[in-house]
Amino acid sequence: MRKPRNSADFAEFSTVKAFSDEETRYDRHKGYGDVDVALVFPSGYDHTVGNLGYHKAFQIFNSVEGVNCERFFYDPSFTKYYSLDSFRPIDEFKIWAFSVHFELDIFHILEMLRKKGVPLKSAERKEGHPFILIGGSLTYFNALPLWDLSDIILYGDAEESLPELAQKIVTAMAKGKNRRGLLEAVSDMAPIALPPLEKSHRVIASFSSLNHYPSRSSFIHPRGPFGHKALIEIGRGCLRRCFFCVTGFTRSPARFLPFEDLKREIGGLIEREQAITGKTPGFGFISATPTDYPHLSQLLEFLDQSSLSFSFSSIRLESISDALLSGLRQGEQQSITIAPEAATERMRRVLNKGITDTQLADALERIARAGFREVKCYCLFGVEEETETDLFEFARLVEEWRKLGFYKIHMSFNPLIPKPNTPFAGRTIEREETLRRKKKFLENALRGMCQLHFESIRNSQLQYLLANGDRALSADLVSGESGDAIQKQLLQRVRLQERAVHKSSSISIFD
Ligand code: SF4
Repeated sequence: MRKPRNSADFAEFSTVKAFSDEETRYDRHKGYGDVDVALVFPSGYDHTVGNLGYHKAFQIFNSVEGVNCERFFYDPSFTKYYSLDSFRPIDEFKIWAFSVHFELDIFHILEMLRKKGVPLKSAERKEGHPFILIGGSLTYFNALPLWDLSDIILYGDAEESLPELAQKIVTAMAKGKNRRGLLEAVSDMAPIALPPLEKSHRVIASFSSLNHYPSRSSFIHPRGPFGHKALIEIGRGCLRRCFFCVTGFTRSPARFLPFEDLKREIGGLIEREQAITGKTPGFGFISATPTDYPHLSQLLEFLDQSSLSFSFSSIRLESISDALLSGLRQGEQQSITIAPEAATERMRRVLNKGITDTQLADALERIARAGFREVKCYCLFGVEEETETDLFEFARLVEEWRKLGFYKIHMSFNPLIPKPNTPFAGRTIEREETLRRKKKFLENALRGMCQLHFESIRNSQLQYLLANGDRALSADLVSGESGDAIQKQLLQRVRLQERAVHKSSSISIFD
């Protein structure tokens, strides 16, 4: 591909090329095919590296005869959207497949379509416009806000349905089918919805065993979640049922990769890395709760004997063991990420988090004994049952942890966002005013004791609306208004809802 002459395009091209040049690639695009698929992660590059669903889709598409799939990502400054693989612009691709894992990324998809002159409503697209295919985490619990902008929505696990869908698309295109003909050609598949035909899905795809379809990195980059480590999915779904989290309720049953298959995946990635760089990679093991992996002790022994460095995505506090901590320390992991969510046992019971005060204290003591001095802690606030005492307890916990020797404590607070298909469905996000007061209260209580991060309240409100959105919301999103105007409208809707709820509820101490 010739380098762009225009300076803005050249800057965009250079950004994409810089990421691409620093990657170690275990899988390649084909570079030829009857159907070109642009696989888009509608968020920043860093997120593409850590999302194994995206990597899996890349592998699946390229395994289908006749398909050439290339990777794209979103950046607010982009206008051309160059491929990370061939640097061709996205306009040259017939299928735009979006891997959507976070509600606010829907705005990025809309922005990309708008910038590329593609009609936002699928019903208004003509021959020559790309097909917009949607898959990813949102399809497990609520893809309705994406209804009007999608040509095809693929629900749930893609491992079995995506190859079939891609094959049918190749065949339909080879036969010269028009837009409608192509949609009709895939319309017998159960886990897909076809909004232009008003056809809804019949099932959310789920396969029984991870060993048929292990997920692992297709490429790695220093900006990955664990730096330059290769990722392997060891479990999908979650054995737990925290009331605020969709994973435990929508990706069941939880499935784990058998140990022999995991060893084979590790061996395969070592071979690939050595063939490219001559080095042995480190590993990041991905699962909602890696410490629930049933073969954890075997895995730790194997990693120790093989002198492989590793990281885990996060650890459940009650399943922490000294062997795990010592292995993580040897792998040069500096900090531990934990998610007690609430500071008091009473609030953890409200959230069904299932961690006692004793387990929390014991885990932090073990972590400190293992030599860790940094801890990242995920917490929720904005739960109607919480009191000032529950929030103030965060400060007491941080004080305790400082006494244990932690000098870098990072507390990350997210407002509770009630989601569909969970026991908190039907609740509303707390009033903006209340959330702001609680945030202020926490800031005052924790000032100078730790690093603090709060998710934006505005973004949380938008996320709440999108997570619980319906087809009416979908119609609003493609109404043609600018992204800012739509977001303002949505926030106004949250305020109206707040007023209605507030009139009928009791007033908390924070009001
Ligand atoms: S918050 Fe974590 S432990 Fe709880 S259900 Fe979700 S993934 Fe599982």
